[in-house]
Amino acid sequence: MSRVIAHIDMNCFYASVEEKYDTKLKDKPIAIAGSIKDRHGIIVTSNYIARSYGIKTTMRVGEAKKLCPTLKLMKPNFERYQEESKKVFDLIKTYTPHVEVVSIDEAYIDLTDINEPIKTMALIQRRIYKELKLPSSVGISYNKFFSKMASNLKKPKGFTIINKKNYKDILWNMDISKMHGCGKASSAKLKKYGIKTIGDIAQANEIILNSLLGVQGLRLKQKANGEDNRKLKYTMERKSIGNSKTYPTDLEEIDDILVEIRKLSKKVSTRAQNRDYLGNNISIIIKYNDFKTVTKAKKVLKYVNSEQEIYMYASELLLDVYDIEKKIRLLGVSLNDVEKIENIFEQLDIFSANNSEEVLKLNKTMKAINDKYGKDTIVELKKKSNKKNIITTSFSKDFLDE
Ligand SMILES: [Mg+2]
Repeated sequence: MSRVIAHIDMNCFYASVEEKYDTKLKDKPIAIAGSIKDRHGIIVTSNYIARSYGIKTTMRVGEAKKLCPTLKLMKPNFERYQEESKKVFDLIKTYTPHVEVVSIDEAYIDLTDINEPIKTMALIQRRIYKELKLPSSVGISYNKFFSKMASNLKKPKGFTIINKKNYKDILWNMDISKMHGCGKASSAKLKKYGIKTIGDIAQANEIILNSLLGVQGLRLKQKANGEDNRKLKYTMERKSIGNSKTYPTDLEEIDDILVEIRKLSKKVSTRAQNRDYLGNNISIIIKYNDFKTVTKAKKVLKYVNSEQEIYMYASELLLDVYDIEKKIRLLGVSLNDVEKIENIFEQLDIFSANNSEEVLKLNKTMKAINDKYGKDTIVELKKKSNKKNIITTSFSKDFLDE
């Protein structure tokens, strides 16, 4: 059976995030640039209106201003982009964990195990647009290369499917330089030998390809024919929720230090609870005024997120490593290896069917969660987690034009 792989690419991601934060920017030409004051600063990205003036990524600010005098230049807000990016991937991951995040605005998603993968992907794309206000282009195919090529075909808000019947029509007339994985130098070399399109390389003589580009040449030929078995690389994220503070005057009294640890623990706890996260690893960081830094972590037996528990472990760690002779400049507390409450339950549930040790662990965790959140929490969670697999919105073809 063929795989179903989607590739999603956010459209003008940084510019879209800025437009989301300030909707007045929507119908103005805007660009995000490295150093705005310096005419030689470089355009990082721009919205489509700016692009219609000929503004391009890596163009100098001075040149861009000449092309479009009304261009609004903005400094990048990387933290904001990171945050929005996370929201996008978190939304996708509520459908499947099989996500390979390639960059801040790009990911592959293996939809093979999902019922109605096309509908589901269309729904994901529409939800990202409606709920997160971020446009994207999606490509779907039976391998990574074709799905990547497909997402690139229509921007903004494209949704393109490449299958075993249409790939030649869609890709083979394209210039070889448009082929993902075939850089400038390789394209130039190939063109010299009459290999000008993706179709040309698909049918090229392997001995010639090998002599021109080595193994890479042969791989490109295979890809052009839809032979690409590369698997997705899932990164198991080890997420943390942390908080740290640099003090205007160094801390030296243990009582003061513990008060600060308590405050940091409270902040971490509030953030974890607001987002429904629990974690089973606590760490602290201490920076002394001689810039020496100490960190220490502790794995705890159950998942926690209360101020009380975080403080208990954090203060224990502090007392363990704190050098009484020194003054402290910075303190930090984090809750690590955090997971959504519902995921903790789901993971254990999968294992519980055929592994008695895991059943014990599951029961323990269920008890821990129920002790903490009241005895019906698990029941609630189960209801909640089933719900998300049901697609309630019907697919309409014209959503891309919204
Ligand atoms: Mg992009």
